[in-house]
Amino acid sequence: MNSGFNLNDVKVKNRALILRLVATKYPVSRVELARKTGLTKTTSSKIVADLINEGFICERQAPMPKFSGAGRKPIVLDIADNAPSVCGMLVKRGFCIVIQSDLKGNIMAESRFDYSSISAEKLVSNLIQHYRKLQAASCSKMIAVGIASLGPVDIVAQTIANPPNFYGIENLPLSQLIHEQTGLPCYLMNDAKAGALAEKIYGNGRDMENFLYLHIEGGIGSGYVLHNQVFHGDLGQSGELGHTSIDFWGKKCTCGNVGCLELYSNIDMMNRKMRSFSKENEPHCDYLWEDILNMADNGSTVAIAALDEFCQYLSYGLVNAVTLMDIHHVIVGYECRTDSHTLERLLSQKLNDRLAAAGRGKIHVKRSFFGSSAPLMGSAAAVIDKLFNGELMVQI
Ligand SMILES: [Zn+2]
Repeated sequence: MNSGFNLNDVKVKNRALILRLVATKYPVSRVELARKTGLTKTTSSKIVADLINEGFICERQAPMPKFSGAGRKPIVLDIADNAPSVCGMLVKRGFCIVIQSDLKGNIMAESRFDYSSISAEKLVSNLIQHYRKLQAASCSKMIAVGIASLGPVDIVAQTIANPPNFYGIENLPLSQLIHEQTGLPCYLMNDAKAGALAEKIYGNGRDMENFLYLHIEGGIGSGYVLHNQVFHGDLGQSGELGHTSIDFWGKKCTCGNVGCLELYSNIDMMNRKMRSFSKENEPHCDYLWEDILNMADNGSTVAIAALDEFCQYLSYGLVNAVTLMDIHHVIVGYECRTDSHTLERLLSQKLNDRLAAAGRGKIHVKRSFFGSSAPLMGSAAAVIDKLFNGELMVQI
């Protein structure tokens, strides 16, 4: 295998690094850029000039208060207004969201469609239609498409493999089909790992070298970031935490395994727990996830008991996941309307209670910067990451 670097590779990597720093470390001056990259001022200035000419970046007066003091405010670099942007497509069971994102991780526009059944052809044509709608309404040209999809996804073949209950859609080469109709570079990855990527580039994982992103939405997905990179595994199917067994003699799961975590940490089990507190013949309606979280955050002992049991099961899977990789940070994304962090508190307590005896360091559990939307931001991040590491070279 050829793993050497020629001069052009180095130029591409340096250009990508400068674009990444300007997009994620605002405000950054030319001097800071040279210092952070270790490049000479001449090399750094040449790349900056190219990126300005191509409309990616611009010079601005520094904002306050970083450069406070008398005199003129220094000039810093920023992503230009109307700079090239990217398209992100989130594909889920029942709905899709198409977004336009700038390179700083801001969603500029979004468009959603829902369905109760859909064919592969209709799925693709709807995604294209929503992409075109966003592009027509924008002054910024979208230069690449990232797709975050429900799993399993094969990142080598760039296909959505065979998700259960996905209307019979299997082995769909979505990346290729979107590329054929847009003419743009396109990259597909699993939604939970896309969430991990969004946290790493723009979210709460920016300063963490290693962490596990945990996504709770119907099922339980996760994505490892190891040494600052999302770990995909051979096919992009790492981190299937919901389908790791926590009960050797448990029920059979649709994935073929037995006693999978998702069979125990789920909304039906939470409602069952809440019903167990009801008196006989007392009416009980099933609650949604957000309702139970809300009630728990507002001190409902019944809801706290249900969430506590959910976290108890989840901790069995998580202890294995963090122990195997020596991870000390867990970022958790889920739908919630309050800031009480009951779930993080319960989960942290259960993880640390069990791991302390083994002399392991403390595990820190933190809510996602994006709430429940890390995979949505991750759809754009899937391809922005390629731009920022030099794998995708786009010149205007
Ligand atoms: Zn399973």
